[in-house]
Amino acid sequence: MDVTTTHRTPPATCCIIGGGPAGIMLGFLLARSGVPVTVLEKHKDFFRDFRGDTIHPSTLELLYELGLLEKLLALPHSQVTGLSAIVGGQRMVMSDFSHLPTHAKFVALMPQWDFLNFLSTEASRFPNFTIRMGWEATGLLQQNGVTTGVVANTPDGPVEIPATLTVGCDGRHAISRQAAHLPLFDFGVPIDILWLRIARQPGDPENALGYVNYGRFIILINRNDYFQVGYLIPKDTFPQIQQAGLPAFQQGIERIVPFLANRTAEIDSWDKVKLLTIQVNHLTQWSEPGLLCIGDAAHAMSPVGGIGINIALQDAVATANLLTEALLSNALTEHHLRQVQQYRESAVHNTQRAQVFAHRILRHVLSRTDPIQAPLPLRILTHIPGFKYLAGRFIGMGLQPEHIKNF
Ligand SMILES: Cc1cc2nc3c(=O)[nH]c(=O)nc-3n(C[C@H](O)[C@H](O)[C@H](O)COP(=O)(O)OP(=O)(O)OC[C@H]3O[C@@H](n4cnc5c(N)ncnc54)[C@H](O)[C@@H]3O)c2cc1C
Repeated sequence: MDVTTTHRTPPATCCIIGGGPAGIMLGFLLARSGVPVTVLEKHKDFFRDFRGDTIHPSTLELLYELGLLEKLLALPHSQVTGLSAIVGGQRMVMSDFSHLPTHAKFVALMPQWDFLNFLSTEASRFPNFTIRMGWEATGLLQQNGVTTGVVANTPDGPVEIPATLTVGCDGRHAISRQAAHLPLFDFGVPIDILWLRIARQPGDPENALGYVNYGRFIILINRNDYFQVGYLIPKDTFPQIQQAGLPAFQQGIERIVPFLANRTAEIDSWDKVKLLTIQVNHLTQWSEPGLLCIGDAAHAMSPVGGIGINIALQDAVATANLLTEALLSNALTEHHLRQVQQYRESAVHNTQRAQVFAHRILRHVLSRTDPIQAPLPLRILTHIPGFKYLAGRFIGMGLQPEHIKNF
């Protein structure tokens, strides 16, 4: 269907702030349906270490629906069919994706910059898609209480980008939600995460694993020649860890993950250890006239479960499904924008509650310095037949999987 000939009025325009998973997916879907879209990304490329690397079965299903799955999986990646944790030296299978009703029954581990490059390259095939790398939104254009576009700093100086709809996909520190003074509810988080790299060697485990013992929780993500290491700590304790010195830090890692013992000396400076603060919060109002926030901009997710990217992508699909017709006929109202929040909110809030519950358990685990045994409830749960499939469904699909709608 040629959308441009079936509508009498020219379509509304959309400016998306942020080229993360939510922004690129939304830009792709709107441009594919004929809505002129400009995506602003403040960085010059997608190459950033702190992004998660997980592409979940429900996201892979979206790519299947778009006819892009095979092409994506031709890129280097590894496939994780389930998640395990080594708790006090004992391996516990936490989830299994092998029974999911999807074409790809695994989590694809792929550096997020590869995924975003892939999706934005595919989006650039649509004439309505424009991406501006190195353009940083600094504020919103507003007229009589309505957002009418974005003010951005570009390599050539400041510009104004007028748009019928502005979508804030600019993550946890979103300028969009700050500029619009949208109200925020914060859960509070008792943990932070240290982010560092350690070389991989032949014979190391392929899949992502969590290691728990002696008051520490370490996650290893396989990035081929190195592990991306996530080291959970109680909130605000990084200065104490630094004070104890690098050798103590290295020994702490070796104690939990003994096979790393011959290479922790690589961490020879605190510059190699980044502190990432974890947030879990959500806007109580995702939109106002002319502006909508989605993804982490509307609800910052914790890394727990590795599900934030999936949720951000599902927000983008739901937004495209709910708004495309109104954008194409230039009939977008505040009511349409509110529908996005009404439709997605309960799945997001329930997922955040599950993350907050997991934080409490993790905080308890981090307060123990003795050798740990898996807590009894966890041992019982992991022995219930079907638990790993249920957990696989929650992690792999999310509470409200979305599907691509064609217009
Ligand atoms: C340490 C850590 C590890 C995580 N690991 C995982 C994981 O493994 N799997 C998982 O699913 N989730 C993970 N998460 C959560 C996940 O990162 C987020 O939920 C997800 O990235 C949200 O996607 P988004 O597109 O909404 O926002 P983001 O991914 O944050 O993208 C926002 C984009 O907007 C850009 N931007 C920001 N401000 C501006 C501006 N003013 N102008 C222009 N551009 C701007 C940013 O550069 C960025 O590219 C992790 C979170 C943390 C903190």
